[in-house]
Amino acid sequence: MRSGNDANVAALGEMWQGGGKGYSDLVMITLGTGVGGGVILDQKIVSGKHGLAGEIGHIHVRDEEREHCNCGGVGCVEQIGSATGIAREARRKMEASGKPSALREFGDAVSAKNVLDAAKEGDELALEVMEVVGHYLGLALSMAVMIVDPEIFVIGGGVSKAGQFLIDVIQKYYDRFTAISPHKAKLGLATLGNDAGIYGAARLIL
Ligand SMILES: [Zn+2]
Repeated sequence: MRSGNDANVAALGEMWQGGGKGYSDLVMITLGTGVGGGVILDQKIVSGKHGLAGEIGHIHVRDEEREHCNCGGVGCVEQIGSATGIAREARRKMEASGKPSALREFGDAVSAKNVLDAAKEGDELALEVMEVVGHYLGLALSMAVMIVDPEIFVIGGGVSKAGQFLIDVIQKYYDRFTAISPHKAKLGLATLGNDAGIYGAARLIL
């Protein structure tokens, strides 16, 4: 589990000087070893009464999951959308099918970066993994959008280095699950990397 404060402060930093610059209402989702989130409304951190606001990584999305998440739950967004989750999904897909794939040379050591690189090259199995990832991240964002309706989702963390390719795969499912309206938060990339927290902390002091 991540520290709620860290993700929220990073979100504030991205609003001030990063991917959310110019917006006052945003939700940040960080796809790293885990999946963190932060909600900013009217330029202020929303942490909730129990510190749970923004815990997007631990929204339950997958009923078929049997393994436990770090939070104690089962079927969390983090189990699919984190770097760890993407790699695990790839191992499962390799095991479940005999399909040839560039990922097989990495075996059990396959990483999220391997998957994203291969998917960009058109590797079928890697693309199947990313469809699953896009599906569940898109689902999580569609839930968030109907609750807080931000101006933008800022997507950060190591996985977001895949750039527009990642945005596109999430966008496809996000649009499908928010058919209610074409007018909704856009998806953007974080730009501050590990410095987001420093910017956020500075903004809090200011
Ligand atoms: Zn969890």
